Amino acid sequence: MAVKTNKASPKKTNTIKLKFDTSWSYAPAPESKSAATINKQYDLFINGEWVKPAGGKYFDTINPANEEQLSEVAEANVADVDKSVKAARTAYEKVWKKMPAKERAKYVFRISRMIQEKARELAIIESLDGGKPIRESRDFDVPTAANHFFYYAGWADKLEYAFPNRVAEPLGVAGQIIPWNFPLLMAAWKIAPAIATGNTVVLKPAETTPLTALKLAEIIQESDLPPGVVNIITGAGATGAAIVNHPDVNKIAFTGSTDVGKIIQRAIAGTNKKATLELGGKAANIIFEDAPLDQAVEGVINGIYFNQGHVCCAGSRLYVQESVAKQVIRKLRDRIESLIVGDPLDKNTDIGAINSKQQLETIHKYIKIGKQEGAELYESSCKLPGKGFFCRPTLFTNVAQSNRIAQDEIFGPVLAILTFRTDDEVIEKANNTPYGLSAGVWTDKGSKIFNMTKRMRAGVIWANTFNKFDPSSPFGGYKESGFGREGGLHGLSAYVNTV
Ligand code: ADP
Repeated sequence: MAVKTNKASPKKTNTIKLKFDTSWSYAPAPESKSAATINKQYDLFINGEWVKPAGGKYFDTINPANEEQLSEVAEANVADVDKSVKAARTAYEKVWKKMPAKERAKYVFRISRMIQEKARELAIIESLDGGKPIRESRDFDVPTAANHFFYYAGWADKLEYAFPNRVAEPLGVAGQIIPWNFPLLMAAWKIAPAIATGNTVVLKPAETTPLTALKLAEIIQESDLPPGVVNIITGAGATGAAIVNHPDVNKIAFTGSTDVGKIIQRAIAGTNKKATLELGGKAANIIFEDAPLDQAVEGVINGIYFNQGHVCCAGSRLYVQESVAKQVIRKLRDRIESLIVGDPLDKNTDIGAINSKQQLETIHKYIKIGKQEGAELYESSCKLPGKGFFCRPTLFTNVAQSNRIAQDEIFGPVLAILTFRTDDEVIEKANNTPYGLSAGVWTDKGSKIFNMTKRMRAGVIWANTFNKFDPSSPFGGYKESGFGREGGLHGLSAYVNTV
């Protein structure tokens, strides 16, 4: 494929649009919507039943790829939160904490198997409601969600091996609040370890992506899990705040923005509530000159563009060693030009829709800031669909460490590229951020990987790969990226007191 770059003078403008001659394109390969059933309206799932919201209010959830309404969901108020916490408390005291662990495990196994059986439908709904490409929801979100239930089902009756010489006791009622970037997977991350260890749950999905959590509620109902063990209620920030502030909740598990994480920390200060907070990130992806460059470029693309950059661990800061910077930047520019942006349900799509209008505006705001700060912008010349919230894959070069595009979490397909000469310099720069969730290192030398990972302040560091997850690996951050770990044994200990 020939690549023609528009050689606009950087003096006139710092925006360069790439033109790509493609003599071929993929024929559309859309997944069928008919394999998914979405109700016109959803109530709240409390105590094993669907109940009307006390305030009688519902709000729309839309498809961000065409702005059409998909369904309307109930808005839970303080009374509904109270009802669901009471249901969770009763289920905890009367049924769940008393049930032999191996019986509890059977329910958790059953839920994982049912997620697998309904995998296709869940993937379609995830892509319709959230905008992510079907390839991502089908191959990553849904199977990984099922795997989390499987993994924690396995631990349920083996806690004495997880915590040798200790007795692991459940905490009680867990209030769980999740964001819109991995709606089903985040629900699985939170619910599976909580119920496997004998806790009961009130979970609230994000207001823009409630549908797969509500489908999960249907699965839970069908699984015959005792009523009240898992309650799923919908609403926005006020509903989340009501869960956080409810006096009978023993633990808060939150994934979302650092700002809301700070509000939650203030709200629970001085109470007995335990908390795990998984917040923002600004991951550094570091390419050394000895790295396999094509593999690294593909890893960078996977780390920031697939999934629209809607990942808190997205590799949104790229540090390239100066000697290979030109080469890497050229490869990246060529590669982003070939990314397919469009219908999330099309199996060829690499970058789907941005989750909401508000998020798209935030991304545009940062692109403007990047230009104002003097960084040089390259964006794909691809056509965007006429309707819906879409953003071209974009990268900035000539970025300074102090620029906001190198410091703030953008949560979009926008990469900031910086260069470095020495190991010490890149460690200093990579750690110079309020966040510390994840990072990546690309090099041929194993010793360099160990040296770097020891000195970098990030909860997860990938070496010669990026964005890989497994239920047995803990995930979580340093500094303003939060505290506590989810996944693996660490994820179990977040839901028990050991005595
Ligand atoms: P994002 O920027 O990723 O949307 P938010 O932190 O705003 O992240 O939202 C993550 C989750 O937190 C959502 O479910 C949202 O409804 C909920 N939320 C928002 N504000 C509050 C709050 N003050 N207290 C508790 N939960 C909240």
